[in-house]
Order: sequence, then structure tokens, then C-alpha cells
Amino acid sequence: MRPPDTIRDIVIVGGGTAGWMAAAALSRLSGNGVTRITLVESEEIGTVGVGEATIPPIRAFNALLGLDEDDFVARTHASFKLGIAFEGWTRPGHRYLHPFGSFGFDMEAVKFHQFWLKLSSQGLAGPLDDYNLCAVMAHKGRFARPSADPASVLSQVTYAFHFDAALYAAYLRRHAEARGVRRVEGKVTGVPLRAEDGFIDAVILADGRRIDGDLFIDCSGFRGLLIEGALHTGYEDWTHWLPCDRALAVPSANAGPPPPYTRAMAREAGWQWRIPLQHRTGNGYVYCSRDIDDARAAETLLANLEGPALADPRMLRFTTGRRRRMWNRNCVALGLASGFLEPLESTSIHLVQAGISKLLALFPDRSFDPAHEAAYNRLSAMQFEQVRDFIILHYLANDRPEPFWRRAAAMVVPDSLAEKIALFRAGGRLFRFEDELFSENSWIAVLLGQDILPERWDPVADTIDPRLVRHNLDRLRSLFARAADAMPDHGSFIARHCAAR
Ligand code: FAD
Repeated sequence: MRPPDTIRDIVIVGGGTAGWMAAAALSRLSGNGVTRITLVESEEIGTVGVGEATIPPIRAFNALLGLDEDDFVARTHASFKLGIAFEGWTRPGHRYLHPFGSFGFDMEAVKFHQFWLKLSSQGLAGPLDDYNLCAVMAHKGRFARPSADPASVLSQVTYAFHFDAALYAAYLRRHAEARGVRRVEGKVTGVPLRAEDGFIDAVILADGRRIDGDLFIDCSGFRGLLIEGALHTGYEDWTHWLPCDRALAVPSANAGPPPPYTRAMAREAGWQWRIPLQHRTGNGYVYCSRDIDDARAAETLLANLEGPALADPRMLRFTTGRRRRMWNRNCVALGLASGFLEPLESTSIHLVQAGISKLLALFPDRSFDPAHEAAYNRLSAMQFEQVRDFIILHYLANDRPEPFWRRAAAMVVPDSLAEKIALFRAGGRLFRFEDELFSENSWIAVLLGQDILPERWDPVADTIDPRLVRHNLDRLRSLFARAADAMPDHGSFIARHCAAR
């Protein structure tokens, strides 16, 4: 055994959410002075400037950095998020919630939803949301933080944030720079490769400055300046499953206190998001340019704002899919440079976080053993594909009339998703394979929300005394309702603990 040939210079290209998340997390490595971290960003090019809804693991990322949550919420003008309301996805006028957290409690190893399916088919259960504390809180517009006591009903609270992505990047920038990350303003115009092995040698800026590195993190956004521009890694296009290819984004004034959930509203050729922050609301229409022209999409978006628009709609074009390899030689791509999945389940910022965690777990030395790259790429591909399948699920079982939605209902889905749906239809069974991001609870919410029902419930559920089952469900329902009623409303909670500053 020999000591590792430690990486001395990490160069991050890009100062959007991905770049500053990487810089803040990797700044821990520069603690002993062995590793230098330089982030290059171009003010002239700017950032994508959207990306406001997150999922609960973001709290673990913030905790890893040691951020004070009230300070972070105040400075990023954030609100709390307990789930996503899907409006009109199953059919016009229909609405369901995908809440965070769990539905009820399992009994004798039988999953809670099996009891609910049984009782609900007999008219003896309330709506599924009544058995998930986050859903009850969302419907009532309440918020409180979880209790650390596992015996407390409040231990069931799980949440994420809606935040201003530009303010989050600025917040992380302060954190990273205070820990020694060097920021360089400039435009990368050249990426020379080493003749012997095709590794990236340095990045060259427009003014001739050269920044050498051992490891390069490509956070340059859709253009993938290093991973694609220099290394020609290739891209797997998933447009045949997820055909939306444009989004128009526009901020609007708040029309009232922010609700503690995101809204995703089905539209003629895609869907519209509404993300409530403390100081404004983020809105956007994600659409398929084959089905609607840009002017009509803008008109639809602007006609469906709650408060007045604060700017003109901004267009973003994308191709859904992923980079064939997210780690190629001495370059790791994060964020939009690594691939794109529409923000229906708010997963992009999470995939940046997951990429950083994997990079730290497989952190190479200067020998760049290919085993690390291979493991990283296998795990990343799997994570992207699992999220892709979950997003496709939302489009499948719809009863909407428009051509966009009829095509979605007729599509041939990936085998991995088809198998999951078949298993659920057969007896309501779901399994979380290989550290999958979305839990059984998430799948249940969307499967049932989209009216995909099992043919029968789990026969083992019939072995448990039906009176006991009914008693437990009734008790849980009133426990959750009382717990939520005792909480402050979401706006008051923010005003008291973490108002924007
Ligand atoms: P960018 O923000 O594009 O940053 C790229 C950086 O690279 C910039 O600093 C730029 O200046 C720099 N750069 C580029 N070229 C050069 C160069 N030549 N020289 C120097 N610097 C350069 N994610 C979520 O989690 N939740 C959401 O709700 C959500 N909504 C979204 C909605 C839409 C319509 C889109 C398109 C994305 C959404 N995302 C969402 C994704 C999210 O915006 C991104 O994952 C996140 O912002 C990370 O972006 P980025 O840092 O990879 O890229």
C-alpha cells in the first residue's frame, strides 16, 4: 500500500446553484491546505436563474454545511414546502397531493396503504391524505418543525423549502469563500487537453489567464462546457418519454400568504408551476413546442398568475436526458451540465446534492483509478433513471383530451416503470430498489392520485382484526387533524421565526 497522490487543485467552472453547492461542500477538503479550490464564473453569461422548489434531503445538505436554518430561510426569502399539489393531471378539475412523509403506520408488517385500500373500498376510510400529517398540514396551511421525540406525533413532520435560487447561490458563495474557496470572474474560452491521456489540463479565460487543475467540476449549465464541449461525452435523449422542451418562467407578486406546498397545474401542452416564496411567487409553463407556440404559451402563463407579473416571461430551452457519463476522465459534471429532467418533482437541485455526495464518497487521487469513475457513473445513471420513471408516471394514466396528453397516455414506458406499475396493479405492492430517491409513500400518492388502482389488496391484511384496523385508522385521522390544528399557520410561523431580511 502507498499513500494517495492527493489532488491539489480543484477547478469548478460555473457559479450557479450547482457550482456554489459544490464549492461549499468541497470547501471541507481545503481545511488542511492540501487542496485548493477555484470557482470560475462569468457575470456576462449569468445563471439559469430558476430552480426554487426542493425536496427534504436538502436539509441534510444544509446541516452538513452547518447552516443555521432560520438564517438560511430569512436570507433566501424561503417558505416551507410539505408537498406538491397536482391539479388537472388525472383529468380536468381533479386534484391530488403528493405529500412528504408517510401515510399512517404499518401493522404487523402489512403496509398502511393496504388497510386503507381495503377500508376505502368498503366506504369505511376517509381520503388518503387524512392519514399523512404533512398532507393534513398542507391542506390546512399550517406549519411546525418536527419533534425529535419519536413518540410524538410531530416526529412525522417532514419538509423542504421553496427558495430564491440566486439568493441561495449567493448564500453558499459567502460560506465557501469564508472557507478558502477562490472565486475568479471571467469567461472560459479554451479547455486544453493533455496529449497523453486526453485529461483536462487547464481552463483558459478570455483575457488569457490560465487556471490549472487536477480535478475539474463542470457546473457550466446546459452548455456542458467541459464534459461535452471539451470531452465530447455524448447525451442520452429522453424526449420520446418526456417531450416537453421549453419553459417560460415569470415571477409575480404574492396575492396572499404563501401556501406550504408547490402547485403543478396541467395545461394544454404541459404544465404550470406556482412556487410561493416570502417576497414573490415563481411561475413557469413547461411545454412541448410541437403542441403550442411560444406566444400562446406565454399568454396562458400570464393569464394564470395570482398576482401581477413582475417581469417579462423568460424562455428556457432544454433537451430532457442525461450525459452518457457524468464523470469522464478528470471531469465530473453536476447540475444542468450533467442532464435535465423537468422540475415536476423538484429533483434537479437534489441531483446536484446527490452528485456531490457520491463524489465525496468516491473522491479520487491523482491516479484517477477508473473504478471510481465507473461506480460514480453507474450510480448516477441509476438515480437519473429512477427519477425519470417517477416523472413519466405522472403523465401516463390521464384522461385529458388534448393531443399532448393523448400521446402521453399511449406511450410505451421504460421496462423498469412498466414492471413497477404491474406489481402495484397486481396487489398494491411497491418496493424501493437500490436506494431509490422516492419512497413507497411517494409512489402511492402519485399512483393512486392518477387513479392507478390495485386489483386487490394484500391478502395478509385480512388476517388482522378489522375492528382493530378501523380503530387505528380513525384514531390516527383525528390525531393528525388535532396536531395540525394546534400549529400556527405557515405565514405566522415564518413571520415569527425567519422573516426575509
Ligand atoms: P446555471 O445556473 O446555468 O449556471 C451555470 C454557470 O456556469 C453560470 O455561473 C455561468 O455564468 C457559468 N458559465 C457558463 N459558461 C461559462 C463560461 N464559458 N465561462 C465561465 N462561466 C461560465 N431545480 C430544482 O431543484 N427545483 C426547481 O423547481 C427547478 N425548476 C427549474 C425550472 C426550469 C425551467 C429549469 C430550466 C430548471 C429548473 N431547475 C429546478 C433546475 C435548476 O435550475 C438547476 O438544476 C440549478 O439551478 C443548477 O443550475 P446550474 O448551476 O447547473 O446551471
